[in-house]
Amino acid sequence: MKIKVILTGLMSVMMLNANAQNKNENNTEDDFKYILEQFADLRILRYQVPEFEELPLQDKKLIYYLSQAAVSGRDILWDQNGKYNLAIRTLLENIYETYSGDRETDEFRSFTTYLKRVWFSNGIYHHYSSDKLRPEFSEASFDQLIGKSNQHKLPVLKGKSPEESLLLLKKVIFDPAFLNKKVNQAEGADMVQESAVNFYQGLTEEDVAAYYAEARKQEDETPVSYGLNSRLVKEDGIVQEVVWKSGGLYGQAIDQIIFWLRKAEEVAQTSEQKEGIGKLIRYYETGDLEIWDEYNVIWVADHSRIDFVNGFIEVYSDPMGMRGTWESVVNFKDLEATRRTEIISENAQWFEDHSPVDERFKKKQVKGVTAKVITVAMLGGDCYPHTPIGINLPNADWIRKVHGSKSVTMENITYAYNQANLGSGFLEEFSLNEEEMELVRKYGPMTDNLHTDLHECLGHGSGQVLEGVSAEALKNYHAPLEETRADLFALYYMMDPKMVELGLLPDADAAKAQYISYIRNGIMTQLRRIEPGNTIEQAHMRNRQLIARWCFEHGKADKVIEEVKRDGKTYYRINDFKKLQELFGKLLAEVQRIKSEGDYEAGKSLVENYGVNVDPALHAEVMKRFEKLNITPYSGFVNPEYHPVELDGEVIDIQLEYVDDYASQMLEYSEKYSFLPLEN
Ligand code: ZN
Repeated sequence: MKIKVILTGLMSVMMLNANAQNKNENNTEDDFKYILEQFADLRILRYQVPEFEELPLQDKKLIYYLSQAAVSGRDILWDQNGKYNLAIRTLLENIYETYSGDRETDEFRSFTTYLKRVWFSNGIYHHYSSDKLRPEFSEASFDQLIGKSNQHKLPVLKGKSPEESLLLLKKVIFDPAFLNKKVNQAEGADMVQESAVNFYQGLTEEDVAAYYAEARKQEDETPVSYGLNSRLVKEDGIVQEVVWKSGGLYGQAIDQIIFWLRKAEEVAQTSEQKEGIGKLIRYYETGDLEIWDEYNVIWVADHSRIDFVNGFIEVYSDPMGMRGTWESVVNFKDLEATRRTEIISENAQWFEDHSPVDERFKKKQVKGVTAKVITVAMLGGDCYPHTPIGINLPNADWIRKVHGSKSVTMENITYAYNQANLGSGFLEEFSLNEEEMELVRKYGPMTDNLHTDLHECLGHGSGQVLEGVSAEALKNYHAPLEETRADLFALYYMMDPKMVELGLLPDADAAKAQYISYIRNGIMTQLRRIEPGNTIEQAHMRNRQLIARWCFEHGKADKVIEEVKRDGKTYYRINDFKKLQELFGKLLAEVQRIKSEGDYEAGKSLVENYGVNVDPALHAEVMKRFEKLNITPYSGFVNPEYHPVELDGEVIDIQLEYVDDYASQMLEYSEKYSFLPLEN
């Protein structure tokens, strides 16, 4: 299962509230610089780590050790994202650091932007669209840059001369037809052969499916996450997994992760946490997926204030949805804000019982949904620099069913997004009237956080699959439909009187802000992220358009949502909020049915009919309207730094420092945490 809210259109749209009353008493420093820089379609932000200073020394140490483990796996992700990424990064950084020519030229500036984009994406493919980044400098000018850089530090590939290596790397960078997409899920494409992600060698989609069909044949109530931690390779007709573990593929980086985890183990907060870290180490040593599951079972039950994710986890980057990209998030609980998610969890069964889906598809007993609001202390791997704002793990269905899951809302991250987007002019441009703006200003951030809570701790955990229906039945439509289901659950309940009753929202008007923003984003503003001529591919974006367009179409007769044209601009006005809620409920029932019955054809038709295609005229209009606003479609974060303070060989404190330069952090990471060879 893929369960991760990525901050995309919805959130960024809702964060744009000039008068946001996002009370976080620890973030009182108004002069904290949230935005560091902006280039291409990206913006680099910083987040604060309130309350770190007040933690006891042992907890600070734990965070420090875990944060070192979090950055130690960086190169694993780079290599997963593309076979030549590490070599290309070496080449680009060498130029950036040693180029002796004029740095004030357009070429050098374009080159720098390209490098910054590559850093952001952890490789040469766009972090979101997965298309190859296009350099805005010529190959000839690139040759000149290389010529005036340190010749002794140029990357050399296995079995190739330095010249051949350069030729190949340039082809990878410049040839738009060669290894052009990280993940290709277009209908009709061989998703395995035509995706550049470094998960498969010498295989077709059919080979992969056949290999795992064999493994899945045995009856197993607690199946491991097949393929999660390996590359699948076919050589001389023989297919085998090359496992990512100590002594195996990526072993050099994994050993560093283990080194820091051992230190963390010594200062664990509880015996459960200590046991969990020990299991995780054992898993990294052996690559045994049974141990990974054992670790997750312990992790779900561990409620220590300091917590972390570290491993091969999310499978978005595998066209087959099996192999996990490496990531890490180190965090600690925001005790006060967590009260909100506790209320939701305590009422989980009520929500399940009252949901509009068919009784057969409901969970009779909702298993421990543990939800909390966290303060992020460190981001690593696939969560850096672009981070989710909420995570719900573990992904293994049987663990979720038997042991429950942990769901988090990353509030210092959303707070930083919010601060960064103040005064961008977005609301003024896309709101139909002052009333809409007021609603969104007043209730936007609040309902936004609540949406994440509901999506993560209830939405994904709700419902059940009928006996005998395979978890893979919906294939490549699983991810967008799963996100659709979770979003609909949140949207449907947002306007339920229960929200006010539980004290989660102040009044009945609040939900309107969420509906306005969601529909506007799903139909219109998220298109900002699509290149002209392209269709929507990203799962969360497909889900949002699917919901918004479906409700627009199905509410047409009653004018639930009305398209309004004014001065050549398009707006979507919600005329009947109550009816819109009913439509959300109706669609939720259908999507739950599709999941529960594994109805591939119906799922496919929903996604393809409502979630994929873009209205070119509306798209062009959106792009034009965004041009004059000061917002980038995507943001990411630099991490703070943690420095141990020693006295007589004893660590007596860990100091938190906020860095203010993106390039410096990237270069420092490349220098300190490069543990892998150029090719793996
Ligand atoms: Zn989700």
